[in-house]
Amino acid sequence: MLKTLIKLTGQKVIFPFYHIVSDDTPVHIRNLYRAKSQKEFIEDLDFLLQYYQPMDLSYVKSYLNQDKKRTKPGFYLSFDDGLSEMYHVVRPILISKGIPAAFFCNTAFIDNKDMFFRYKISILIEEIHKLQPSAVKNIEALLQTQDIKSYLLSLKYGNINTINSLANTLNVRFDEYLKQVQPYLTTSQLAEMKNDGFNIGAHSIDHPYFADINESEQLRQTSVSLDEIQELTHSQDRIFAFPFTEYGVSSSFFKSVSADMIFGTAGIKKDIDSRVLHRIPMEESRKTASQIIYKQYLYFMVKAFFNKNMRKR
Ligand SMILES: [Zn+2]
Repeated sequence: MLKTLIKLTGQKVIFPFYHIVSDDTPVHIRNLYRAKSQKEFIEDLDFLLQYYQPMDLSYVKSYLNQDKKRTKPGFYLSFDDGLSEMYHVVRPILISKGIPAAFFCNTAFIDNKDMFFRYKISILIEEIHKLQPSAVKNIEALLQTQDIKSYLLSLKYGNINTINSLANTLNVRFDEYLKQVQPYLTTSQLAEMKNDGFNIGAHSIDHPYFADINESEQLRQTSVSLDEIQELTHSQDRIFAFPFTEYGVSSSFFKSVSADMIFGTAGIKKDIDSRVLHRIPMEESRKTASQIIYKQYLYFMVKAFFNKNMRKR
């Protein structure tokens, strides 16, 4: 059935991506989404290997150079946010199965110098869970909200002052958390992964939602992170994955940006810009790779009727 769908849609190359694989979702992620366990991740990989050949970056490059014509179905795997589980959990699994991959990092967070604002929110929610109901009520009154959890989850990149002052109120020290938990990859771990043959790419400086910042800041976030990653990995490749989504980023950004390949998050989708490759989010609730991939192809078929499979700008 999947073979038929691949043939019917002509979408032979797919780009699945993850953020974390962990049997015990860490506090900085626990209140945002559920991490796939090692067992679930291995099952996902085995499913992919059944239908697609693993591709490496040079394969993806030649796929692009040949105008995306390829005879055999293939997949190129990637991981966003540069978490330490990439080194400890994902790396050994991929090496044992011989699967290449790219890891996209936020340059401000490498070596645990700082943390993604959404991770800070997850830590704050965890802290709220420990409080007495009356204390929660007091904070809710102070913030003029009925539901502190959804209030926290609605905070954006631009609300970092609110996040930090709430941390103060709750006696949460993000710097201590970074030191103790070490959520991010370090420079030496990245060097080792580069040596293993994996690709390291950029994911912006500090993970803003691009639609929320102006174009010159979008370009700065992109070029500074690409330059730093290139310097760090001594690599010729300039590969970038948008934080959150590329949705809402204008065509002039794409004209100005200097990158070989740009990865989005729109599932199975074509793009008007040949450098842009859309990826499939693989961490949707409790769904298996099989469920996610089938759904993507069926969705692609439906959208074909409405001519909605091309991202234009
Ligand atoms: Zn990200």
